[in-house]
Amino acid sequence: MTEMIQAVRGMNDILPSETHLWLYAEHVFRRVLLAHGYQEIRFPIVEKTDLFKRSIGEITDIVEKEMYTFLDRNEESLTLRPEGTACCVRAALEHGLLHNQVQRLWYSGPFFRHERPQKGRYRQFHQFSAEAFGLAGPDIDAEIILLSFAVLEKLGIHSLVKLQLNSLGTPESRNQYRKQLIQYFQSHQDKLDEESLQRLHKNPLRILDSKNPEMKQLIANAPKLLEHLDTESLEHFEKLQTYLKHAGLNFEINPCLVRGLDYYTKTVFEWVTDKLGAQGTVCAGGRYDGLVQQLGGKPTPAIGLSFGMERTLLLMQQGEKNHKLDYTLHAYLITDGDQSFSAGLKIAKYLRTKVPGLKLMLHCGGGSVKNQFKKADKSGAQYALIVGEHELKTRSISLKNLREDLPQQSLYQDELAEYLKLKISKK
Ligand code: ATP
Ligand code: MG
Repeated sequence: MTEMIQAVRGMNDILPSETHLWLYAEHVFRRVLLAHGYQEIRFPIVEKTDLFKRSIGEITDIVEKEMYTFLDRNEESLTLRPEGTACCVRAALEHGLLHNQVQRLWYSGPFFRHERPQKGRYRQFHQFSAEAFGLAGPDIDAEIILLSFAVLEKLGIHSLVKLQLNSLGTPESRNQYRKQLIQYFQSHQDKLDEESLQRLHKNPLRILDSKNPEMKQLIANAPKLLEHLDTESLEHFEKLQTYLKHAGLNFEINPCLVRGLDYYTKTVFEWVTDKLGAQGTVCAGGRYDGLVQQLGGKPTPAIGLSFGMERTLLLMQQGEKNHKLDYTLHAYLITDGDQSFSAGLKIAKYLRTKVPGLKLMLHCGGGSVKNQFKKADKSGAQYALIVGEHELKTRSISLKNLREDLPQQSLYQDELAEYLKLKISKK
């Protein structure tokens, strides 16, 4: 036998048994975003490599080791998008959406990072994201965080996650802090692991984010970014906390929350869970007031968030709601021979138009009526509809309830439509 080609490691097929959960979650996201006045934007999966280098930062995990970068046939360096914010800003700038305007946008789709695949961490994964441009105050920070809570609530997983907040301040105050942090870690250089040593001068804030348990104590004693915030960032952060408290939203301040991308300023937040092992961040976001300018636009304040879909779905399976959408067929249409199949095609079309929401499968592939009945039974459908020679003559359709012991009925097409309409609405 010829050897089979398998999927790329870390890139998953999503099978029919799983898509119902995806559909449900996507439906909830869309509804919540629409309810908050956000509009959808779509952009390509491939962008110029420089877009990500310039925005995410050269000394970050993503740019250093996770990007799928390749030369195309014109020798141009392109990259499969590892995240969406930079793409969204690029597209919005290119089409003049940010010109003195407030924009609330959302998008969803696949993203690509060459990471070590494990539960909740894949090489192709999916995000559902929102970005708001042109608003500088903590009001939109509060609103977008409450929006994320609304999603979690609707998905029935809000009790499984906790909100963590931090502020990274302005680039100026962060620079000041950076110097102190380097000094601190330098004086404890013998305790730094290899990765942190590499980060020490390039991106010391990322050391705070280290997952190495041996570094925990060292990090806990490090100077705190929040203690070095500029007045404006501090006021912004305090106001945000007041809004959230008023809204009844619990949160904790995590001074070590720094996020993996360089463009963040002021507010950063994550929804984290202890139910998914090391992959605990389900949704993450923050303010990025400098990015639009960094990518060639005018200074434009902005904030965004992303839900990791796979982690969200893993959590939904542990949540309190039953998310099963009902895909069971209502009816299975059986025909007997060529002429009755032609009639069956028309009847199926008529019924699907007349009965909203009707899930009707028309049997294809021939076979005896007895055999088709077996297929109808196996399909899970409630009713078998039969169009045979007798029905053709009488211009009727026979209906047999496959799940209850009731006599077979003979109905005209319009009567059948009414009957099915009634039965479906009762379900
Ligand atoms: P982590 O610290 O878990 O690596 P991150 O900070 O790199 O996450 P972001 O760039 O903020 O992640 O992406 C937003 C969200 O997308 C994450 O919180 C997570 O839910 C999801 N995500 C990120 N990378 C992956 C991945 N490789 N596989 C699955 N989901 C991911
Ligand atoms: Mg990561």
